Amino acid sequence: MKHIVIIGNGIAGITAARHIRKRSDNRISVISSENKYFFSRTALMYVYMGHMKFEHTQPYENNFWESNRIELVEDHVNSVTPSENKLVLRKGKSLDYDVLIIATGSKPNRFGWPGQNLKGVQGLYSKQDLELLEKNAPNAKVCKHAVITGGGLIGIELAEMLHSRKIPVTFLVRESGFWRNVLPKPESEMINRHIRKHGIDLRLNTELSSITGDENSCVASVITNHEERIPCDLVGLTAGVSPSIEFLKDSGIETNKGILVDSHLRTTIENIFAIGDCAELREPLPHRKAVEAVWYAGRMMGETVACTVCDQPVAYRPGHWFNSAKFFDIEYQTYGKIHAEKTAQEEQLYWESEDGNKCIRIAFEKETGVFIGMHALGVRLSHMTIDRWLTEKLMINDLLPQLEKAAFDPELFDKSLKKAKAHFQQKMIKLQF
Ligand SMILES: Cc1cc2nc3c(=O)[nH]c(=O)nc-3n(C[C@H](O)[C@H](O)[C@H](O)COP(=O)(O)OP(=O)(O)OC[C@H]3O[C@@H](n4cnc5c(N)ncnc54)[C@H](O)[C@@H]3O)c2cc1C
Repeated sequence: MKHIVIIGNGIAGITAARHIRKRSDNRISVISSENKYFFSRTALMYVYMGHMKFEHTQPYENNFWESNRIELVEDHVNSVTPSENKLVLRKGKSLDYDVLIIATGSKPNRFGWPGQNLKGVQGLYSKQDLELLEKNAPNAKVCKHAVITGGGLIGIELAEMLHSRKIPVTFLVRESGFWRNVLPKPESEMINRHIRKHGIDLRLNTELSSITGDENSCVASVITNHEERIPCDLVGLTAGVSPSIEFLKDSGIETNKGILVDSHLRTTIENIFAIGDCAELREPLPHRKAVEAVWYAGRMMGETVACTVCDQPVAYRPGHWFNSAKFFDIEYQTYGKIHAEKTAQEEQLYWESEDGNKCIRIAFEKETGVFIGMHALGVRLSHMTIDRWLTEKLMINDLLPQLEKAAFDPELFDKSLKKAKAHFQQKMIKLQF
């Protein structure tokens, strides 16, 4: 029986543990310094917003771990010594392993802004961040104004959270539109309008230069690249995340941005693997990133590595790219390849509803007409259908007549797809495809 040690009890580590147990009798230990029990990180915002209690973010009963013989260790790993198959914990103990799986996730980026360590300046990633936010911004009396810097998914979540407690928010976005490096201009503009409609003071083309404090080392204001001073009691740093791997610096395990792994998620050391946000694929699949810090990638890597460590090696094949998010009230889903700026090899079709709150974009290869990607804002799509169309390499001319099938629930079908279809078919005549 092998002793398999997993560092990190997020979606990646816990999925690995569950699947190793399904496949073997090996001894499994899972170490985490954040919380004893696995919880859904993506649900943290709903705890602050009062939609659920923290306990409700834990998908498994507390006795699940004992009954599945998964040992939970509440501690932090300070270092790993691969030559001795050993790791050292913060509380002084060490632990031996036969196989090590590193699933330590990400940490919020801090770019060395002056004042970034003042009280009231924080990121939003961990349970501890949520607790800190509860202290820093319990209500609009204590936190009269908040500034968020970083126009991505976590930034907009934090804006929505603070807005739910009526805390005025200024949202600094470096780019010319929200999430503009991912969203094409019309979609980004749609979300800009939506953010502003909710009363958020959105500042585009604006960067944080420094943060100033008061005599108690508490944040007092931020200064932007336009030399404007914005008084505030909270600064949310949400300018992306990066792999949490500092504790490996003397381990000899090869790292770049993340922990470098091969297609079997194995590091440079034979019996050490890395999965989830902290893993960086040496050879990412075409059109995919080497580090994909999203929930479902962590889950798939967990499942994949479980096979390999149980002596049934499986290469990581993540399938078609998929992601979803919610920007206040507008749902977003994306499948396959949709570039923020259209490439020379592709053609894109775009439809937007008259009220400017919904849109659909479809991409296909210019040369062949093969469907390569689709995304939507405010229209719920069927993952199964679109994934199948991508797998089948459906031709755009065959896809459009059946576009309604892309609706998530045909019974609740809201006519958007019908309107989009008519619009696209007109466009196709013009494109003479
Ligand atoms: C606010 C927020 C909202 C998000 N929303 C979405 C979304 O809508 N959709 C989506 O796809 N993704 C979303 N994400 C990203 C998604 O949550 C992550 O991709 C995913 O949780 C990563 O899982 P993981 O298991 O790799 O790492 P993590 O969930 O980060 O788990 C790693 C664990 O390891 C622990 N750890 C780290 N180092 C050590 C150490 N040395 N010793 C012991 N323990 C250690 C950490 O404390 C942590 O508990 C969101 C993230 C955040 C922060």
